[in-house]
Amino acid sequence: MIPEDHPRYRSLITRERLAECARSGIVSWEGLTAHGRGEAFDYLIGEKTTGSALQAERTAAALLLAAHHPVISVNGNTAALAAPEIAALQKASGAIVEVNLFHRTEERVRQIEELLREAGCDVFSGTAERLLPLSHDRAWCRREGMYSADVVLVPLEDGDRCEALVQMGKTVIAIDLNPLSRTARSATLTIVDELTRALPQITKACTEVSPDECRQLTGSVDNHYLLSEAIREITLRLSHAMD
Ligand code: ATP
Ligand code: MG
Repeated sequence: MIPEDHPRYRSLITRERLAECARSGIVSWEGLTAHGRGEAFDYLIGEKTTGSALQAERTAAALLLAAHHPVISVNGNTAALAAPEIAALQKASGAIVEVNLFHRTEERVRQIEELLREAGCDVFSGTAERLLPLSHDRAWCRREGMYSADVVLVPLEDGDRCEALVQMGKTVIAIDLNPLSRTARSATLTIVDELTRALPQITKACTEVSPDECRQLTGSVDNHYLLSEAIREITLRLSHAMD
């Protein structure tokens, strides 16, 4: 039992949720270590949505709204942490929700799809094929889903697949707390923010951006600037800590 007045209550509850989902097979054991890296970077950015992350979230909303075939790619950690938030974003953006896993088994895919459906997602399932140019199992996707997408939102992505999707000509939006990762550097747009803070902000922006703002945002994506701002934020916090 975690006491509610514990200063790290939210973080401990999240860990408990991930451990429970690892025991039931939804989250891979490796996914737990990926979360740990995320937590470390969240500490460094101050566990809040920065100004540049908010700007990236608004731009992500504009890219999803302007897309012809937007897809949200969901893995085990994303489903465990944010299934209701994915459902809300799907409603606001009209995107397809598709499961894509590094540690892939048919049973895990089925479990994650079920969790997403229970949270209100309309999950695009059906026969997957090995369609992406990758040697590992993230190559598996659906022809009418991710393979045909023009814009893909990839929360908690690995760098390999992010690069492969960009090389296929897709606009890739990553959510990644590590501004130095290959994912962050190869995506078209990177949101350096925690998943459960980022998704509701994108959903909210979907209901706010006007067609004019949408055109302006999609026409001026500058990921290098956004990543530099995230790194500047971290550096500033570190230098204050040394004062
Ligand atoms: P690459 O450099 O190839 O992108 P990676 O080691 O970052 O490699 P993974 O381990 O697959 O790739 O990615 C986990 C990433 O997800 C980490 O960068 C971590 O910062 C980020 N992450 C983990 N949990 C969260 C979260 N809740 N919200 C946002 N980002 C997260
Ligand atoms: Mg990564």
